[in-house]
Amino acid sequence: MIAERLRSALGARKVLTGKAERMTYRHDAIQIGALPMAVVLPEDTADVVTTVKLCRDANVPIVGRGAASGLSGGAAPARESVVVAFTRMTKLDLFPERREAWAQPGVVTATVSERAKPFGLVYPPDPASWRTSTIGGNLAENAGGPMCFKKGVTGDYVKEIEFVDASGAVHRAARDAFDLAGLLIGSEGTLGLITGARLRLDTPPAFTRTLMAHFAEVGQAAQAVSRAIASGAVPAKLEFMDRACLGAVEGYLGIGLPVHAGAALLIDTDGDDEETVTEELELARAACEAEGGTVRVAANAAEAEDLWRARRAISPSLGRIRPHRMNEDIVVPRSALAEVVREIEELGREAGLVVAQFGHIGDGNLHPNILYDPKKESSDAVHALAHEIALVAVRHGGVLSGEHGIGSMKRDFMTDAVDAVTMDVLWRVKRTLDPRGQLNPDKLLPEVSA
Ligand SMILES: Cc1cc2nc3c(=O)[nH]c(=O)nc-3n(C[C@H](O)[C@H](O)[C@H](O)COP(=O)(O)OP(=O)(O)OC[C@H]3O[C@@H](n4cnc5c(N)ncnc54)[C@H](O)[C@@H]3O)c2cc1C
Repeated sequence: MIAERLRSALGARKVLTGKAERMTYRHDAIQIGALPMAVVLPEDTADVVTTVKLCRDANVPIVGRGAASGLSGGAAPARESVVVAFTRMTKLDLFPERREAWAQPGVVTATVSERAKPFGLVYPPDPASWRTSTIGGNLAENAGGPMCFKKGVTGDYVKEIEFVDASGAVHRAARDAFDLAGLLIGSEGTLGLITGARLRLDTPPAFTRTLMAHFAEVGQAAQAVSRAIASGAVPAKLEFMDRACLGAVEGYLGIGLPVHAGAALLIDTDGDDEETVTEELELARAACEAEGGTVRVAANAAEAEDLWRARRAISPSLGRIRPHRMNEDIVVPRSALAEVVREIEELGREAGLVVAQFGHIGDGNLHPNILYDPKKESSDAVHALAHEIALVAVRHGGVLSGEHGIGSMKRDFMTDAVDAVTMDVLWRVKRTLDPRGQLNPDKLLPEVSA
């Protein structure tokens, strides 16, 4: 019924109704959800308004979707819904004189920097998925990336957003007054559908230096991070990967990574003054060596690119160890890093499951990945271990998500992390902007106080 109404309002080209077509819109990168009732491919904001109004009248839930590269089940419908996939809304206007861009939500993240480059500008937020993920998905998750330690996350580059609320009204929200734009950023499609964003562009640094340091034990790498930052270095990027990741990536790329090490750090320093960039790299080198690390400084841009290729290959190469993974995304205070990575390693050992750890360690953002084979390992055990890992973060004063969102994957853990008063406030905001609960239901907020 809703599919027919959407088709007659928007035209057949913009609405997918065939079962095979709908099947491909059930999932994100980690989870498979319910079969959508229809898939809408809007071409402009007016199409989104029409869709939302028809769904509101028919009382049908709506799930926004970008590239479906999400890692928390956000774009996978939790129940029968209409999926609004923004992949045709790819208009991007550049305003170099203002160092700004206006992007529709379906613009692929890397495209913003590619298009800004001829003007000597760059869009710094750089999720590892930047060649597939979209600006809409990045905003909805407040995506981060290696560059974010020094440069900030997606939300720091958003000056204004356009969104369609649950009643079909269009709003333009800047970062003033109540920072309504900030409320929508990171709301995982539960408060409104983002149809455009004014983005801040930056100038790229003139100089960059890169080093990799490897350590016998994972906690040493974490201690080196705290030491480097305490010594005054502000690296542009500060990433880590543990032994399981090193082995997986080496098996995949074969570029001579230190596979017997307990962990490795990848560090970039950058800026417009070459001397300062080198001084900062030396501070980082000294910190790594003081913690027992073996340091390799990239001699040139090609060597640096090889090292970063290793970092970007972690996700695809983990599939070589086990076919499935549950990707955690905790953030802990930097002072607790060493203890946290050791505790998580131990938890994996006790559970008899492979846990690979990597992440933006400079921000305290860790991605412990539980690798498993559903034919041999129980999904209950995987879920229980994910819960244990979440509790480690909470116990050390951390949070459940740094960039991947809560989605459906960590929704049950929210009651461990958020007190009852805060949860009540979150629900009040949700009910104010989406009174009937039609926008991406069963995500982010647990039902406890609904
Ligand atoms: C290999 C790999 C590496 C990754 N690396 C990183 C990383 O370094 N940093 C990081 O932050 N993430 C990373 N991710 C996770 C993922 O890429 C990000 O969460 C990304 O922001 C999702 O964008 P998307 O377009 O794929 O969104 P989707 O997965 O399609 O959707 C994500 C969420 O956004 C909502 N949504 C999408 N579009 C809209 C819209 N227009 N309006 C409202 N809600 C919307 C969806 O409902 C869903 O809740 C990685 C994923 C993979 C597979």
